[in-house]
Amino acid sequence: MTTIEKFDSHVTHSYGRMPLVMEAGKGRRCTDENGKEYIDFGSGIGTNCLGYCDEKWADAVCAQVRTLQHNSNYYYTAVQADFAEKLCAVTGYESLFFCNSGAEANECAIKTARKYSFDKYGKGRHNIITLVNSFHGRTMATLSATGQDVFHNYFFPFLEGFINVKANDTDDLRAKLDDTVCAVMLEYVQGEGGVYNLEQSFVDAVFELCAEKDILVIADEIQTGVGRTGKFLAGEYFGKKADITTLAKGIAGGIPMGACLFGEKCKDVLTPGTHGSTFGGNPIACAGGLAVLERLTSDGFLDDVSRKAEYIRNELKKCKEVDSVSGLGMMIGIALKNKKAEDVKAKAMEKGLLVLTAKTKVRLLPPLTITKEEIDEGLRILMEILEE
Ligand SMILES: *Cc1c(COP(=O)(O)O)cnc(C)c1O
Repeated sequence: MTTIEKFDSHVTHSYGRMPLVMEAGKGRRCTDENGKEYIDFGSGIGTNCLGYCDEKWADAVCAQVRTLQHNSNYYYTAVQADFAEKLCAVTGYESLFFCNSGAEANECAIKTARKYSFDKYGKGRHNIITLVNSFHGRTMATLSATGQDVFHNYFFPFLEGFINVKANDTDDLRAKLDDTVCAVMLEYVQGEGGVYNLEQSFVDAVFELCAEKDILVIADEIQTGVGRTGKFLAGEYFGKKADITTLAKGIAGGIPMGACLFGEKCKDVLTPGTHGSTFGGNPIACAGGLAVLERLTSDGFLDDVSRKAEYIRNELKKCKEVDSVSGLGMMIGIALKNKKAEDVKAKAMEKGLLVLTAKTKVRLLPPLTITKEEIDEGLRILMEILEE
C-alpha cells in the first residue's frame, strides 16, 4: 500500500487533499517521498512563519522537550510567563488566555465578550455581529459566527446570537448595532473569504459606533497577525487596537497554539473556573512562540517583510493574466482574468511550487523569512503558468 492509500483508508476524508506526501523541510523548501523539491509559498497556511525547521526555533523547541514537555494549568512555568510577558509587550495588550488553535481563540473571545456584557448589563445583550464572508473556525460556535452560508449546513441547530453585516457597509452596520449587541467581530483582511480587505472608513465606523455604546470590538487576527502583513498586528495599519484580538496560525512557528489577547476592558473578565484548556499554553508551544517573537522583533525584520511583500506585489501586477492583487503585506490574494485558481495550484505543484487558494483567488502566504532569490524562483514558476 502506498502512503496515500494507507492514509485514505484510515483517515476520514474531510479535506480536499493534494496528492503529495511531504517528507521533510528546511527553510523555504520541502521534499516529498520521492525526493522532489518544492518551494513553499503557503507555509502550512501561514503557520511556518520562520519556514521549515528554523535552527534557533528548533533548538528552543527541542531544549524544552527535553526539560519539561507539559504540566497542567494548575501550576506555573517560566516559559509560559516569559512568552505571555513578551506577547503583551509586543502587542500592547494587558492579559491573555492561551489555547491550541484559532477556533479555540475565537471561542474564548466569544465567551469573554458575552461575560463582559452580562457582568455589566445583565441578560439580553448577547448578540455578536460578524461580517458576511468572514471565517472564524470549525467548532459549533465559530461556525455559527462564520458569515458564509456554505458553512451553515448539516450540523443544525447552530448557535443563536450571531448577526451578519456586509463587510464595508456602514449603513448595514449602523442599522444592526442595537442594544442586544455586545461585540463586533472582524478580520481586517478576510482570509478564507477570498483575501478581501476591509476599508479604513468601515473600520473607523466600527470602532466609533462601538465605543459610543460600550460594544466590544474583537479582531480575529488568526491569519493577519504575527507579522504576516509586515506589522505585528494588522490593526496597526488601521491605527486601531481592538478590545480583544485573537491569534493562532503563525504564533508558535508551526506548533499548535492560539491566544486570546485582552485590553483594559476585558483583562479580568475570565475568573477561576470560567474557562480552561488542558494543553493551553503548553511549554513546547511557548518555547516555539518565544523563538518566533525574538525573530519578529529583531532589528528591521518586519520592515524587510514589508519590502519583500511590496516586491512580490509589484512583480505580480506586471503579469497580464493578473486582474488585481489584494491583501496586506505577505498575505496576498491574486484575482485572475481567465485561469482557474485551482488549476494554477495543481500546475504549480507539478512544477515544484506550493501555493494556496481562497475562493476564486490564488493565495500566497510565504514564510516571512523568504529570501529575494527564493521569491524570484517561485514567481518564475508562477508567471510561467499564468502566462502559458
Ligand atoms: C484559520 C483561521 C481560523 C481557524 O483557525 P484553526 O486553527 O483552524 O481553528 C479562524 N479565523 C481565521 C481568520 C483563520 O484564518
